Amino acid sequence: MKAISVLGSTGSIGTQTLELAEEFPDRFKVVGLTAGRNLPLLVEQIVRHSPEVVALAEGELLAELSARLDALPKEQQPLRRPELLGGNEGLCAVAAWASADLVVTGIVGCAGLLPTLAAVEAGKDLALANKETLIAAGPVVLPALKRSGSRLLPADSEHSAIFQCLQGTPWADTARLSTGVPTPGLRRLQLTASGGAFRDWPAADLAKATVADATSHPNWSMGRKITVDSATLMNKGLEVIEAHYLFGLDFDHIEIVIHPQSIIHSMVELVDSSVLAQLGWPDMKLPILYCLSWPERLETPWRRLDLTEVGTLSFRAPDGAKYPCMALAYAAGRAGGTMPAVMNAANEQAVALFLEERVHFLDIPTLIEQVCDRHRADLSAAPSLADVLAVDAWARQAVREAAAATGRTLLTA
Ligand code: NAD
Ligand code: MG
Repeated sequence: MKAISVLGSTGSIGTQTLELAEEFPDRFKVVGLTAGRNLPLLVEQIVRHSPEVVALAEGELLAELSARLDALPKEQQPLRRPELLGGNEGLCAVAAWASADLVVTGIVGCAGLLPTLAAVEAGKDLALANKETLIAAGPVVLPALKRSGSRLLPADSEHSAIFQCLQGTPWADTARLSTGVPTPGLRRLQLTASGGAFRDWPAADLAKATVADATSHPNWSMGRKITVDSATLMNKGLEVIEAHYLFGLDFDHIEIVIHPQSIIHSMVELVDSSVLAQLGWPDMKLPILYCLSWPERLETPWRRLDLTEVGTLSFRAPDGAKYPCMALAYAAGRAGGTMPAVMNAANEQAVALFLEERVHFLDIPTLIEQVCDRHRADLSAAPSLADVLAVDAWARQAVREAAAATGRTLLTA
């Protein structure tokens, strides 16, 4: 029985992880949960899973959570009353919880950084969904992994595909995961991208893109921030940096290919020119399950892939002019040090402003580029955690100021 803590349990990754725990009750038990603001769902999860500990990002909501648990009728009370914790310390305590074997990081954004580091420092294995953490703080997270021996198992579907392909090679040694040392025998990674919400839009129409347009993904059902990142292709740019830190390849050997059907989840090219791919329906449950069960595989009753039903698998090169965020991410990754943290924070802030309809879709790359340009002279090549947190805060503020200066009249749906 593997004990898991789920950070961000009320989100898309979190809820799917809990569904897996229910599908495999003799394999996984949930000992810790953390959430943002969705108390009704969190109470439901506490009742179903009876965790030992629960933390809320906003400590002020703890009293309300406690009252909601008290108000449950007797027959709905969880088997045990969980310890309730609040704030960042609470999230970190759940991440480092003694009885947890593995921590699923389903918090969105750099808010996941301190809890992720707490899990690493406590020697926990991680199912990494929260890519922003590794991107912003790779130079801090990688040495921490090395010190503690924690293993970073990729839950992102592309990186899971690569990880799964590598299991079939002589270099399956997971010690190579996230060490920053190039995985030997690996010549090139190809990350597949659905193309996001605007895949079939002419670039000229993006000037009319609304929040409703950008938050409807053709293939995957995910949280709002990552869905917008998919529409700008920043998600794929972030995944390029994520792949760099996980598998140690330089940026010239990590490519993006548009694959509208999202059936091939990514590909690896080996030194002998063989290309391996992992295929499946677009469903995050499989990559999450593989993190939970690795190195084993569990039998599932899920819909099996039928390529005759899919019919066609197609591929094309991404359009750099239509999707400037890709080039921004490659440039930030190549600059290294604090630049990916700045780019990530600028993106988080720009996307948040877009979702509030305070900037336009096309402002997102412009704002990110301006802020990365401003940071160039201050770049720190080997940042500490404090440096990463400082540039993260600075970049958010810089985006807010730059956005206010645009004084845009906004399009609404
Ligand atoms: P989501 O918005 O659906 O859920 C986010 C979770 O984090 C929620 O539980 C929310 O309460 C919590 N949260 C939000 N802000 C917080 C804060 N400041 N402090 C603490 N908790 C906070 O997001 P998601 O789609 O599940 O994505 C989660 C992470 O997984 C992201 O980093 C995303 O890039 C990554 N990811 C998601 C998918 C997917 O299919 N959803 C696929 C690959 C990677
Ligand atoms: Mg992905």
